[in-house]
Amino acid sequence: MARAAVSRRLTWRAARLREVRAETGSAHTLVFEVPGWPGHLAGQHVDVRLTAEDGYSTERSYSIASAFTDSDDLVELTVQRIPDGEVSPYLVDVLQPGMQVELRGPVGGWFVWRAAETAPVLLVAGGSGVVPLMAMIRARAKASVRVPFRLVYSTRTPEDVLYAEELRRRALEDRGLDVTVVYTRRAPDGHGRPPGRLTAADLAEWGWPPDFEPAVFVCGPTGFVEAAADLLIDAGHEPQRIKTERFGGTDA
Ligand SMILES: Cc1cc2nc3c(=O)[nH]c(=O)nc-3n(C[C@H](O)[C@H](O)[C@H](O)COP(=O)(O)OP(=O)(O)OC[C@H]3O[C@@H](n4cnc5c(N)ncnc54)[C@H](O)[C@@H]3O)c2cc1C
Repeated sequence: MARAAVSRRLTWRAARLREVRAETGSAHTLVFEVPGWPGHLAGQHVDVRLTAEDGYSTERSYSIASAFTDSDDLVELTVQRIPDGEVSPYLVDVLQPGMQVELRGPVGGWFVWRAAETAPVLLVAGGSGVVPLMAMIRARAKASVRVPFRLVYSTRTPEDVLYAEELRRRALEDRGLDVTVVYTRRAPDGHGRPPGRLTAADLAEWGWPPDFEPAVFVCGPTGFVEAAADLLIDAGHEPQRIKTERFGGTDA
């Protein structure tokens, strides 16, 4: 992050798509090469600008999915296609390796996790809200710190789980990382919990108790974030320990 500390001015940069990874049927991870990228913290986002040949341009924000690596200028974003959306279908379905967009960032200094922090961490994700939380999980692994992390990840069906293999592997290999997926619409066979929205009981069972004074990060569609934050506060978590990031929309 030393490079980020030096370069604070946000400028639009050309970002060339190097690689695409399909995460689910409707979400892709886009790996961009961004020459001169100043570095980022886990939890920060970028603005992406698309400009049409007639000069019309539009921007959206996307969380950075990757942990920063000093040795390259790569930035990974994971974009969930929103049906009828203006930008996300283009990023998921049209953009091909070699094509360019403009990218500005990193943005945001509040919703970030730093490896020097020692409090246990509770990550609560709704849908694509897992993206910046994945960056935190990756940054923790990269820094080789042992701060215990718990991820409670609410998503619609097993086919919608982003980073499924990586989360499974990391949780198996790392006793300091617990991952729980709860399903709102359809759970896998044999899953003990019936499908449904995230509840206080889920957070009590799979999160940290308030007494542990965890740092809590909640991210997802606006409705999900508001509901989850209310559950956490009702359970006794201090509001100032709960950081939230709203992606827009109302779908929980
Ligand atoms: C800080 C920040 C970080 C974000 N990070 C990510 C990310 O990592 N990955 C990602 O896929 N998206 C992320 N988003 C959401 C993203 O910026 C866009 O809003 C999203 O891709 C939809 O854009 P669109 O142009 O396709 O849809 P639009 O044309 O803008 O909207 C179409 C319709 O979809 C609704 N809608 C917009 N956003 C959402 C949403 N998130 N969920 C449900 N409905 C929605 C709108 O209300 C509208 O009705 C982030 C948003 C913010 C503010």
